[in-house]
Amino acid sequence: MLTLDNVHAQVEDHPILKGLSLTVNAGEVHAIMGPNGAGKSTFAKVVAGHDDYEVNDGDIQFNGESINELDIEDRANKGIFIGFQYPTEVPGVNNAEFLRLAYNAKRQANNQEALNDEEFRPILLEKLKAAQMDHIFLERDLNSGFSGGQKKRNEILQMLVLEPQLAILDETDSGLDIDALRIVADGINQYRSENHAIVLITHYQRLLDLVKPDFVHVLADGKIAKSGGPELALELEANGYDWLTK
Ligand code: ADP
Ligand code: MG
Repeated sequence: MLTLDNVHAQVEDHPILKGLSLTVNAGEVHAIMGPNGAGKSTFAKVVAGHDDYEVNDGDIQFNGESINELDIEDRANKGIFIGFQYPTEVPGVNNAEFLRLAYNAKRQANNQEALNDEEFRPILLEKLKAAQMDHIFLERDLNSGFSGGQKKRNEILQMLVLEPQLAILDETDSGLDIDALRIVADGINQYRSENHAIVLITHYQRLLDLVKPDFVHVLADGKIAKSGGPELALELEANGYDWLTK
């Protein structure tokens, strides 16, 4: 579903990704771990098509098609979703309305009719229930005044509403209390299926205990330094990253 082949990317002439190669197939869950500043969030943003990040070598393919030249909306409409490490607060934009517009943008890009509020409401309520979130979050403005954990849970709600093929979740588990972590993991496990692919960027085994990855990768200095199975995450938890980067 997703292939990065020797991707080099930079921000303002500062090289960050330095030959990143990764293949993620439908049905798989991959975890990406690695030291701070390694380029994990940059990877997510480069796949999303964020304007600040320039891919200057290599190729990114989604379902066999190069997406390097596509803008962020086209990639989202094709089924790529990113749960950002630092979700943006958007005061003045109602959360439920935002979700409906995002849902409709994707429908219309795929030649389906937009849904009005009445038609969308039952879908939204079902997803809200799946995300184990309170109705109050629909009435509030998008992430506005949400706690760190509430923002992360709202990203899961967005993912469940948009039903992307590929979800890259960037530290969606950080800052969550134990109950919220379980709820987020439940949401991810509900979304997990043979048609979906998931990339979890995380520092913590506690998420991987709840959402068991098929593959674990260490991203260090802009490329994959090591790949393995779930046991690699345990090794990292015990030994840190030094043994890999030295
Ligand atoms: P990680 O998520 O692995 O902690 P990031 O991808 O956020 O790492 O960052 C990798 C490096 O790129 C860091 O040194 C960071 O400061 C730098 N960087 C990322 N985004 C920007 C940006 N927009 N402007 C300048 N530097 C950036
Ligand atoms: Mg990051």
